[in-house]
Amino acid sequence: MSDAPAYDHLTVLVVDDNNYARKLAMFALQNIGFKSIILKEGVDEAVAYLRELQPPQQVDLIVSDWNMPGKTGLELFKMISDNQDIPQIPFLMLTGVNGVESIQDAFELGIKYYVIKPFTEIKLKEKIDLIFASA
Ligand SMILES: [Mg+2]
Repeated sequence: MSDAPAYDHLTVLVVDDNNYARKLAMFALQNIGFKSIILKEGVDEAVAYLRELQPPQQVDLIVSDWNMPGKTGLELFKMISDNQDIPQIPFLMLTGVNGVESIQDAFELGIKYYVIKPFTEIKLKEKIDLIFASA
């Protein structure tokens, strides 16, 4: 028996350029209860995936790294926010400690949820619970 919110019916899209970081996020999300986890290594791949989704397929949560070569997580957030073809999806940003000074900018751009890397599973779950509690 568990009183945890059920995430087993939701799909999460993880975007991170680092292979190891993607796997860490995947394991943490599995432990949190997600069964449908899509991994993408960059913003363009993620956006292409989102564009090609056919209902009833959907993504319920995006967990994205901030620092990526090419387009950043912040650009991904902006692309999704500005794109009428992509449904608005709750967004959780993963950022390194040296990204903290940019958090204020991110907040002003509409990013409400972030987790500082390296994160614990508990911290990640706290933020996800918060996102879905407020959804
Ligand atoms: Mg990165």
